[in-house]
Amino acid sequence: MTIKNYINGKYQNPIENIWLDNYNPSNGEIYGQIPNSSKADVENAYKAAKSAFTQWSQTTFEERSRILIKISELLEANLQRFAEAESKDNGKPVSLAKAVDIPRAASNFRFFGNAITQFASESHESVGQQAINYTLRQPIGVVGCISPWNLPLYLFTWKIAPAIAAGNCVVAKPSEVTAMTAYLLGEICNEAGLPKGVLNIVHGLGTTTGQAIVEHPEIKAISFTGGTATGAHIARVAAPMFKKLSLELGGKNPNLIFADCDYDNMLETTVRSSFANQGQICLCGSRIFVETSIYEKFKTDFVNKVKALKVGHPSETETNIGALVSKSHLEKVKQYIDIAKAENGKILCGGNSVVVKGYENGYYLEPTVIEVPNNECRVNQEEIFGPVVTIMPFKTEKEALEMANKVKYGLSATLWTNHLKRTMQLSNQLQVGIVWVNTWMMRDLRTPFGGVKASGVGREGGFEALRFFTEAKNVCIKY
Ligand code: NDP
Repeated sequence: MTIKNYINGKYQNPIENIWLDNYNPSNGEIYGQIPNSSKADVENAYKAAKSAFTQWSQTTFEERSRILIKISELLEANLQRFAEAESKDNGKPVSLAKAVDIPRAASNFRFFGNAITQFASESHESVGQQAINYTLRQPIGVVGCISPWNLPLYLFTWKIAPAIAAGNCVVAKPSEVTAMTAYLLGEICNEAGLPKGVLNIVHGLGTTTGQAIVEHPEIKAISFTGGTATGAHIARVAAPMFKKLSLELGGKNPNLIFADCDYDNMLETTVRSSFANQGQICLCGSRIFVETSIYEKFKTDFVNKVKALKVGHPSETETNIGALVSKSHLEKVKQYIDIAKAENGKILCGGNSVVVKGYENGYYLEPTVIEVPNNECRVNQEEIFGPVVTIMPFKTEKEALEMANKVKYGLSATLWTNHLKRTMQLSNQLQVGIVWVNTWMMRDLRTPFGGVKASGVGREGGFEALRFFTEAKNVCIKY
């Protein structure tokens, strides 16, 4: 399977004809080639986007909305095909891709197709000065969108949909590890009637293709989701050009579990929030803090449930945990298990690679629970981004809050309690961008999404995303 760049509405080989191998994580085999695009490919994509911009930015909002909704419908009509492609590329269970990733990608287009019809500008009457101000929200021009491998199509479209809805044209790069569904999206866009050049997809390595997008002087905004170190690098490159930046970065999210919670719901959801997508979601709750009075019970029940999760081939319906995305990522995650042992962490379950019959070279790992001696150990401070969680007890609300906040990241937190005052206090004081109370990863696309501290800057979602992808221009008229 040869993946090609999608530029100006056409599939194209990379100019320098350099290709990268594409691996299937479930069996470790190479199953395709993707372009390793150069600066020249990015330049072509930019030119196509630039020439499409004049017309696209003047296209009525009704027409933009209609096309976005059509893309959404076509994704839904191709659900099985996209889910299988996503699973083969990423290692996630097909069932998960079918139930979550692809439907969410489709809903990104539907949501922003609708949202753009409601995105109003502000006006302010300057009473006493006989003037009226109104604020135009103008598309930026050509914008860059760079996304990671963990939720490939879902995060890719979370950027592209608001960008094009707002009248921009896009040069986008998915992770080179999971390029397949972004590649297939080109076909859908053509079928939906998206004018050529509005969306351009260039494949390749972050350090070459991604870097060329960030360095391009005429690509005026970058929306990036990925690791914190990459985000910091992008900020350094983009700052001297005063580019607009949205950075959604890593997390080390705490779960605070209090004895007064709805225990069964908490237990079930905590298994999911720990291991969904092999723990490779920036929102996974990777640090679990439990009130002392229920700690031993939780430990037993949680470990029993985790042991019952089935690690297996992503296409098998009973599989709960598929393959990790790549061999190098599997090695990185396993190293953290060794680090935990060296720091006196106790492996309560898991910790080993799994050999799946018939797929012996796949990248499988047991879901792993580590009881840690303190919150300062590396496995409680660094993002592992795999099927590994830590647990430890806390005595007081104050102690729980301190441990939750004592980390460089600040993406999300989950609270399990039925105590209203505690809910309100902790929600105010947690240093994160997203708090879930008695639930996890519930999605409402109108809400702002993003983190604080090393988890990033800016917000995606709803009108926040449309604001990011537009420039506000105020006009003041004296009458
Ligand atoms: P990376 O930061 O390695 O890569 C993200 C994207 O950036 C990829 O497309 C990558 O390309 C590209 N890239 C790498 N280097 C550069 C560069 N110098 N210039 C421009 N682009 C570059 O992250 P991962 O793909 O490993 O994704 C995992 C990370 O993403 C985790 O830290 C996770 O927490 C974070 N994440 C954050 C989310 C959030 O919303 N806050 C959501 C999901 C994930 P390539 O793949 O070719 O290297």
